[in-house]
Amino acid sequence: MLSVKEAQEKVVNSAVVRKTIKVPIIDSLHMVLAEDIISRDDIPAYDNSAVDGFAVKYIDVIGAEKNYPVKLNLLKEDIPAGKVSGDTIESGMCIQIMTGAPIPKGCDCVVMKEDVLKEGRDVLIFKECREGENIRFKGEDIKKGDIVLKAGKKIFPADIGILASTGTGEATVFKPPVVAILPTGDELIGINEELVLGKVRDSNSYSLSAQIKETGAGNKSCGIVKDDKELIRNSILSALDECDILLLTGGVSVGDYDYVKEMLDSIGAEFVFWRVNQRPGKPMAFLTYKDKFIFGLPGNPVSVMVCFEFYVRPLIKLFTGDAELFRKKILAKAASDFSHKLGRTDFVRVKLDFLQDGTYFKSTGMQGSGILMSMSEADGLAIFPESSGNIEKDTEIEVFLLK
Ligand code: AMP
Ligand code: MG
Repeated sequence: MLSVKEAQEKVVNSAVVRKTIKVPIIDSLHMVLAEDIISRDDIPAYDNSAVDGFAVKYIDVIGAEKNYPVKLNLLKEDIPAGKVSGDTIESGMCIQIMTGAPIPKGCDCVVMKEDVLKEGRDVLIFKECREGENIRFKGEDIKKGDIVLKAGKKIFPADIGILASTGTGEATVFKPPVVAILPTGDELIGINEELVLGKVRDSNSYSLSAQIKETGAGNKSCGIVKDDKELIRNSILSALDECDILLLTGGVSVGDYDYVKEMLDSIGAEFVFWRVNQRPGKPMAFLTYKDKFIFGLPGNPVSVMVCFEFYVRPLIKLFTGDAELFRKKILAKAASDFSHKLGRTDFVRVKLDFLQDGTYFKSTGMQGSGILMSMSEADGLAIFPESSGNIEKDTEIEVFLLK
């Protein structure tokens, strides 16, 4: 049986063939650029005023102060944003200018409106202004020809602003995979059905869809399939037609009605591994089929989510070009003693307390693989490693953040 580390290595070494797609920039949020973005303009494209004020020559206002204002002559036309002034500032003159408007000829600084008193055509300036003060210079943010965003960059809101300001309406990004979910089990019913004896609502399709959504991948729910070999086989084949990654849940263990592995074998899928030395989520399988990937995930609601985080999510991230394959981990101290069996990795659902003397983790409650409530309460999963036995209070352990 593989260790968690070995299984993760197999997943991250998968031969994923990335595809690219051109999308309107707003749709590229949280995707990864597949091309360098080069600015075809200087940004700003021209020197402009950073404030609402008066365009002057700095030499004219040297010595201006509260009690000894300098008097300048106001030109008739003002310069709102968007207008280009034909005027030239000569010595002794000024012109009213608004934020963002192009700096007129002859002006080398802008006095803020708050430091000025306007009396008809006379303007009293109460403060000096350095050469260049309150001017935003052409190209000071971005120079024409600059690579503003490099291929491999993950897109955040400010990047979308940069794309827009450089006139880029569409961007080529790595195409997120389509991930299909195929829940199996005779006991499963839809979420709107009455919970009669012997039945279980299919929650896995929903928790997995949500996890897929968090990665930015596309998801496709295939609907519940009974524990019937033919049905499972046909459903697998038709699901594979429509996805890059197929997630089966349930029927992958060693029970008498667990047909998933047998059916995956029968279609010619190749096993990369089956079973990982971990709890929860031991009975999971990872396979390839042509250029597709298949996970046979356990049926238990917590196991399925844990396996998703540690194995499915990194595979999705390989498709999307995201360098951060895994969620972030932090070190936290055990708030109490925990029992743990040496020789197996346990993922323990924990809540974090950020205290003055450090970050502590405590259990969110019952840790059975069907107890979804303790998963819902969890900030993260503490990783009790294979190499250690019981975890004593204050021992520092890696915690994998879920939220
Ligand atoms: P299995 O892996 O098929 O043996 O299922 C293990 C446990 O998970 C059983 O108690 C199932 O009822 C439960 N289970 C399986 N599939 C789902 C599902 N889609 N949603 C919620 N529980 C499930
Ligand atoms: Mg089952």
